[in-house]
Amino acid sequence: MSSKSTGYLDPEVHGRFDRRNTVFYRRGIFTGFEHLRPDILDPGEPELLEMAEVRASWTLHDNYPGAFRDTPLGSRKLIHNHAPFRYEFASPGAAAENISEVAERFGASLVGITELDSRWLYSHECSGNPVALPEKAVWAVVMAVEMDRACISRSPDFSAAAEIGRGYSKMAALAGAIGEYIRILGYYARSCGNDTALSIPLAMDAGLGVLGRNGLLLTREFGPRIRICKVITDLELVQTPNEYPASEEVCSGCTLCAEACEVNALSRSESPTWEILTESNNPGVYRWQFNPERCFDFWLEIGRDCSNCIAACPASFKLRKLMK
Ligand code: SF4
Ligand code: SF4
Repeated sequence: MSSKSTGYLDPEVHGRFDRRNTVFYRRGIFTGFEHLRPDILDPGEPELLEMAEVRASWTLHDNYPGAFRDTPLGSRKLIHNHAPFRYEFASPGAAAENISEVAERFGASLVGITELDSRWLYSHECSGNPVALPEKAVWAVVMAVEMDRACISRSPDFSAAAEIGRGYSKMAALAGAIGEYIRILGYYARSCGNDTALSIPLAMDAGLGVLGRNGLLLTREFGPRIRICKVITDLELVQTPNEYPASEEVCSGCTLCAEACEVNALSRSESPTWEILTESNNPGVYRWQFNPERCFDFWLEIGRDCSNCIAACPASFKLRKLMK
């Protein structure tokens, strides 16, 4: 993480986060619990069409076997018949440029690269398995996918929820393809969505944005209106510089996200704090804390995801001014 950001961690307290501490895991969403609830609607309601769109939006994310993996799908044979090979780039900079260009052609709205800080790896996945990577897999290609402004602006209705699912499905296609591309070139690559490592600190390290009061990555281009995926690899790359200001420069004096939250899940305090609110928060991080339980209970109440704190956020306008 950049030197600016490391000041926001207490190394005496902070440790790798166990993904089993997320509210999603503790409420059973990874083991069959369904938070998208068509049962809250009466048969014949026009909203059933919208709910169907929400369910369909997750299709690729939930069902594409190439999405989140580190083993080849077999396509290396298509270009090299049978013998394994390793493509040698002219330099790490040339490799970074190539991977970034290919990622954009596969649908990345933003691409940044960082050396992997092992503090951002989960300690354990939801399965209970410890997260471990090959020793030389020390680079992360972090990619953001823009979500449609008009759809998100209608949060918390169904069209915003469908845009969330479409964002996740685009992540699956993008991370899957870039991981496979790097593996075809002969290197290790783990394609990741929300798994394996915390996406937001990785994205900050990769120069893509800054952490906001709403707990999301704020980008100059799209504010928090993105989804993040990443590919972790042993292909040597080069670090993208981080030119973003500190969170306080963006969010102090602004509480629009907290005001837009119908269940008071976001802090309105002037400054960030070290105090955590629930076991979903990782201790030792100086930030505006967030109550994921209140947030997720609201999703359960309305039967779909909410994006109010994304729709309300003016960070892209603020950042364009601050980073002129
Ligand atoms: S997603 Fe909705 S409920 Fe959750 S914190 Fe944001 S505004 Fe609040
Ligand atoms: S709405 Fe304001 S306070 Fe909230 S994340 Fe965006 S810029 Fe920061």
